[in-house]
Amino acid sequence: TGAATPTTRRVLVAKPRGYCAGVDRAVLAVEQALERYGAPIYVRKQIVHNTHVVQTLEKRGAIFVEETAEVPEGSIVVFSAHGVSPAVHEEAAKRSLRTIDATCPLVTKVHKEAQRFAKDDYDILLIGHEGHEEVEGTAGEAPERIQLVDGLDGVRNVQVRDPSRVVWLSQTTLSVDETIETVDRLRERFPDMVNPPSDDICYATQNRQVAVKEIAREADLVIVVGSDNSSNSKRLVEVALDAGAAASYLVDNAGFIREEWLEGVSTVGVTSGASVPEELVEGVLAYLAERGYGDVTEVEAMAEKVHFALPHELRRDLRS
Ligand code: SF4
Repeated sequence: TGAATPTTRRVLVAKPRGYCAGVDRAVLAVEQALERYGAPIYVRKQIVHNTHVVQTLEKRGAIFVEETAEVPEGSIVVFSAHGVSPAVHEEAAKRSLRTIDATCPLVTKVHKEAQRFAKDDYDILLIGHEGHEEVEGTAGEAPERIQLVDGLDGVRNVQVRDPSRVVWLSQTTLSVDETIETVDRLRERFPDMVNPPSDDICYATQNRQVAVKEIAREADLVIVVGSDNSSNSKRLVEVALDAGAAASYLVDNAGFIREEWLEGVSTVGVTSGASVPEELVEGVLAYLAERGYGDVTEVEAMAEKVHFALPHELRRDLRS
């Protein structure tokens, strides 16, 4: 019969969505550094995984590099929210760089767990995505003790020295449900495996997944705003599909939405990853309103009140 134009057209917007406390702090750290010290400010890797944020900071004088070796001696470099390994700190010190560490405190917490379990001679199974910067940083805390477990397939390849001294840790931005599955599989192999002292998947990742599930149950289409190298944003698409959305897509901004996605759709869900500025969501809502989806309801799953102070090295200079 073809896709009829639906009579009701509405939008459900998930809350919480967008910026988490760690991203807010990291972006603000670069902005404040530019103001306090002047351009250029070097940033190792994308400060957060969002194209728009990176381009905006570039226009204001931030220079993004892949490695500290590209930063001229004596310059100021900001480390991204995803964290760095001790080797990167050492290299920066060798090159006399002034560093501002914008690693999210919740990533630092996982680094500390890794240090402690490595010191106690555990084999550490780090659940995460191969090649992701956060995983590289965490693994760098104890390369000889940490093995990466990337999804269910990774479980099979794990080799430990002593099955009674094994702990699992994880990347902060994974799918909660998928991680539980991976942990269950690991536990089948290592029944004495120790759990992390507290959740490694951060509050922001968890809350955005709970919130997208609520709207996905009622939506024909869920649009997730986020860049395609953003782990937590990509997970929101998967969670939306698992929760029952007929379709879900990741878009950097409204310009990436295709008209045909809306065919026959009566309820559109919208959310955004932890690195996404709200103006990009507003752009998506404007796009939808122009196409008859002007009835917008925000669905709040829970309130969020987390806030992190700026990196201390920057706070010190801002005070003086
Ligand atoms: Fe920190 Fe979580 Fe935000 Fe990552 S997603 S920066 S771990 S609060």
